[in-house]
Amino acid sequence: MDWFGFKEFLIACLIFVPLERLVAMHPEQKIFRRDWGNDLVCLFLNGFLIKLGLVILVVGVVAAAGWLMPAGVRASVAGQPYWLQVAQMVIIGDIGFYCAHRAFHAVPWLWRFHAIHHSIEELDWLAAARVHPIDQISTKAASLLPIFALGFSEIAIAMYLTLYYWQSFLIHSNVRIRFGPLRWLLASPEFHHWHHSNDAQARNKNFAGQLPLLDLLLGTLHMPRGKAPIRYGIDDPVPRRYALQLLYPFQRASEARDASRDADNNKYRADFNDAGSSSPPSRPALTTDRFNAIGTA
Ligand SMILES: [Zn+2]
Ligand SMILES: [Zn+2]
Repeated sequence: MDWFGFKEFLIACLIFVPLERLVAMHPEQKIFRRDWGNDLVCLFLNGFLIKLGLVILVVGVVAAAGWLMPAGVRASVAGQPYWLQVAQMVIIGDIGFYCAHRAFHAVPWLWRFHAIHHSIEELDWLAAARVHPIDQISTKAASLLPIFALGFSEIAIAMYLTLYYWQSFLIHSNVRIRFGPLRWLLASPEFHHWHHSNDAQARNKNFAGQLPLLDLLLGTLHMPRGKAPIRYGIDDPVPRRYALQLLYPFQRASEARDASRDADNNKYRADFNDAGSSSPPSRPALTTDRFNAIGTA
């Protein structure tokens, strides 16, 4: 197993960097956008931590399922055609994902973990990596543990995991690919970009990972035809550095705000010194807005 995902990173660059140039949803957005380097650190380090956490959980669940799940059930599940097993896993896995994801939005102390992912202000394929490992291990466990417990075959699980992994990059990518009538059935960039929108009407919508149909059935779908989100992100004082993002859910709101402000100011000073200018420019408008909003968040 490639624990850090270096090979996947190279393949993802070859696929998504040209795609985001050719059919961009937001053509003005740069490849090396703000916090690109930090999200690259997230990709490698989170990739390792999430795989490690899931491997430990899966080993435990498979051992327990061997005792608890009748062998006949596991054998008949694994004996089905691969395409049918993958379809069943998509449905079972996404019901688990929907429930866990919605809980991470609804429960305040869980939201502090998930806020890291929603702090993205320029969405692209790499933004999929900006997550807190505890958030991702929990939501992925909700998807994957029932699948491993039911005894799906190894080949079918490998097909499903490949689909799951690459589809996560695709739905975050800055591409203008629309799925036509399939937009209600399969999660697209259009569907998931609305989940990250800072538009009040789009908040707490589109929780599914793969099946927008779940949101349609449960009244949480938001996908206005012919429109795209303009602003992404949230008003929470989420820090911009990986190490501070790991600590953020465990800090009190006031501490997190101070740490985020200090880190932002340090980065701002470093940028200013690098530029070699004699007087500091005014701070970026978006950052100022974000800190003005803290008092009301
Ligand atoms: Zn979310
Ligand atoms: Zn996302």
